[in-house]
Amino acid sequence: MKLGIVGLPNVGKSTLFNSITEAGAESANYPFCTIDPNVGVVDVPDERLTLLAKLSNSKKIVPASIEFYDIAGLVKGASKGEGLGNKFLSHIREVDAIVEVVRCFEDENIVHVDGSIDPIRDIETIDLELIFSDLEMLEKRVSALEKKAKAEKELREELEVMKKVLSVLEEGKSARSLDLSDEEKTILKSYNLLSTKPIIYCANVNEDDVNDYSKNKYVQKVIEYAKDQGSEVVVICARIEEELTGLDEEDKKEYLETMGLKESGLNRLIKSCYSLLGLMSFLTTGEMETRAWTIKKGTTAVNAAGKIHSDIQRGFIRAETINYKDLLAEGSLVKAKEKGLVRLEGKDYIMQDGDVVLFRFNV
Ligand code: GDP
Repeated sequence: MKLGIVGLPNVGKSTLFNSITEAGAESANYPFCTIDPNVGVVDVPDERLTLLAKLSNSKKIVPASIEFYDIAGLVKGASKGEGLGNKFLSHIREVDAIVEVVRCFEDENIVHVDGSIDPIRDIETIDLELIFSDLEMLEKRVSALEKKAKAEKELREELEVMKKVLSVLEEGKSARSLDLSDEEKTILKSYNLLSTKPIIYCANVNEDDVNDYSKNKYVQKVIEYAKDQGSEVVVICARIEEELTGLDEEDKKEYLETMGLKESGLNRLIKSCYSLLGLMSFLTTGEMETRAWTIKKGTTAVNAAGKIHSDIQRGFIRAETINYKDLLAEGSLVKAKEKGLVRLEGKDYIMQDGDVVLFRFNV
């Protein structure tokens, strides 16, 4: 899973990204401080893995992971090539979802590129850049499609759909806002438009607001805006996230407790991204390793097997499946089997979150 972090300059992207990579990319109080898109890989927090690893005496734990791409430099006029904008826009095309950091903190010492704090204006600025970029790409493709569709009838439906999308973009609205049938959505998907990518708004607040943001008017506006759009908001304090890097687990916990927080903003962000993208994990456990595998909700057992290895998918016989809670309660797979808690599922079984699976397959 690839996520792209975007946002106007000076909203806290690098600060958040630093906490993701712990590598310490440049963070400074001026625009364009982070020109190259960077990649940071983080583990998806999953307490079940630790418990299962203990039970199985596993040598290692392999959590699911997600990649964050730091797509800095997206400014007003990016789609016109300003501030190396086009390069950044093309990076967004490669991600599964967008994490948009919006500034919801006041700080006189940190300039805002547009002079004041106004997260909705910022969101609209970025939206427009994505829309312009889509528009430019789509205008070319629709005009080419128009010519081709004259000779090839089967292209006419695609042309109709894309004309519809084009007219929405021309109104300055995201392609995301269109109400389309499943069939139309499939056509649209192949175009990989920026303004169809799911978005999570990451409202960056000051230390004092992160625990209770009911009085932060900026956050409230973002929440309202996102609700209308059907998007999610995660409230973080990027500075706290940065503070947390470098601390060991114990110190992290203590630090969060003193701030009145249960878990880090990054963990909440990762979890939200997971649910936004309709993802879940199934688990495998043994002496070698305990591991989480990322799949889309609704994935069948045979396709889940393919995540591990194409040979397992090809030779699939059955999936010996147990919910991790049952397994933990029994204390061993043998005991769980005796009690008949291990189910034998076939190819078409729809995988459930927290399934612990052993695939049987023909070599
Ligand atoms: P970017 O341009 O979006 O990557 O922004 P940076 O991460 O470089 O942040 C710009 C400045 O804002 C830096 O000086 C950060 O330390 C500061 N900053 C980031 N998050 C917060 C925050 O939550 N509160 C305050 N007051 N400052 C922050």
